[in-house]
Amino acid sequence: MRIGFGNDIHRLKEGCPLVIGGVIVPSDKGEIAHSDGDVLLHAITDAILGASAMKDIGRLFPDNDPASENAPSSIFLKEALKLTGARIINIDSVITLEKPKLAPHIDTIRKSVADILSIDISKVSVKAKTAEGLGPIGEGLAIKAEAIVLIE
Ligand code: MG
Repeated sequence: MRIGFGNDIHRLKEGCPLVIGGVIVPSDKGEIAHSDGDVLLHAITDAILGASAMKDIGRLFPDNDPASENAPSSIFLKEALKLTGARIINIDSVITLEKPKLAPHIDTIRKSVADILSIDISKVSVKAKTAEGLGPIGEGLAIKAEAIVLIE
């Protein structure tokens, strides 16, 4: 068994869709990014690559590659899983976002991540918290995700 960790942060801008774990969450602000800016899928992708010591998402899918422009991040995650041949035991993650509140969307996000990876929802934990108004995340300027994964 091996363990991996990943994190990601993206700036938020009014009028952009807020994509978290492959789910579009209703919000007046969303991620600015070359791809769809899905911080949670980027963090999980890096955690899977990290568990396999296979570099990181930026090196496998450079943000100057036209192929990944506006790409759904599920592509990166599925590709990382295929490349590493990892079998996922479980994933835990934390999203830090000031608003909107994610509680009503958490199970939809868990199901979406589980479906992308073809695993059971019971293997995917997603938690959400605010930054208590502190720093750029607290001011609503950014969203952050951290993920840890156990593979075999
Ligand atoms: Mg990213």
